[in-house]
Amino acid sequence: MIIHLKSSTSEAEAKVLAEQNKAVLFKDECFVLVTSSKVKEANAALQLAADKIVVTESDIQLAGKPYRADKRTIQVADWSIGGHTQHTVLITGPCSVESEEQIEASAQLCVETGVRVLRAGCYKPRTSPYTFQGLGLNGLLLLDKMRQRFGLRIITEIRDSSHADEVIEYADIVQVGAKAMYDQSVLRKCGKSGKPVLLKRGFGSTLQEFVQAAEFVLSGGNSQVMLCERGIRTFETKTRFTLDLCGAVWLKKHTNLPVIIDPSHAIGFAYGVADLSRASLALGVDGLLIETHPNPAEALSDAEQQLNFDEFRALKNSLSTLATALGRKLI
Ligand code: PEP
Ligand code: MN
Repeated sequence: MIIHLKSSTSEAEAKVLAEQNKAVLFKDECFVLVTSSKVKEANAALQLAADKIVVTESDIQLAGKPYRADKRTIQVADWSIGGHTQHTVLITGPCSVESEEQIEASAQLCVETGVRVLRAGCYKPRTSPYTFQGLGLNGLLLLDKMRQRFGLRIITEIRDSSHADEVIEYADIVQVGAKAMYDQSVLRKCGKSGKPVLLKRGFGSTLQEFVQAAEFVLSGGNSQVMLCERGIRTFETKTRFTLDLCGAVWLKKHTNLPVIIDPSHAIGFAYGVADLSRASLALGVDGLLIETHPNPAEALSDAEQQLNFDEFRALKNSLSTLATALGRKLI
């Protein structure tokens, strides 16, 4: 159950009510309490203190449509993702920051193709400890340089809580990757940060678990969360993962969070990224996250799935045509 407390409620009173009702407390425009969804009726003290009470079916609460019918707006600089717009934001860049030359070429591709958000990881959650792990803080400093030089917004990922504060400081949008989706110390840090968060779906998680991970961020007091479908593990082995478009549609229908699709990690091979991007745009998603690299064959991570720049230019053109036909706008 979600309870909005009256604006006259003091912090001390809100804390007492939270304790008495075993509720999570955070401050938005007012103090908000969230109890387990098993609680279906507010007691007298809560009813007296409340401005608004929403009974929820499951622990998809703050992220659910019954709580907020409208899609949340994620404010990035002077433009936004989600909300009432018919916009699909394009996000591109390499899997990892590898060198100044490489990330500068990627930033220039963004400028040339009108992409506002540059992506690249500095703390990579690799499946082997013996492969490239990312440039760490040096990578963040390079991304910062690109932001300043080219006016781009930066999305980069937190691998674990040891460097969460650093990433939160340098990122415009904080990415929580598929493997970190269950890391509650990361989720709680994101909840306390004022930065927009792009939460990727763990490849072995159900939609319920995925959205409940988002609830940790939302109930920490950060209302700016986007969900990213990036493929789940199925019995199929011909592709790296299986892009769950049914899941993306379910998220659109049942949650109030913008939905982003990452076709690159889903299929794991560059040849399928354009087709999956167009299919995703046709669903009306709020964003697409596409890995690109100046020389994919030489990439230090995810080499097989990254588009080269010519492939991205061609994809951008075809997405623009499709967006017009769909009454959407690529931004
Ligand atoms: C990435 O975006 O480079 C990445 C590691 O993605 P995921 O967490 O989806 O595997
Ligand atoms: Mn990657």
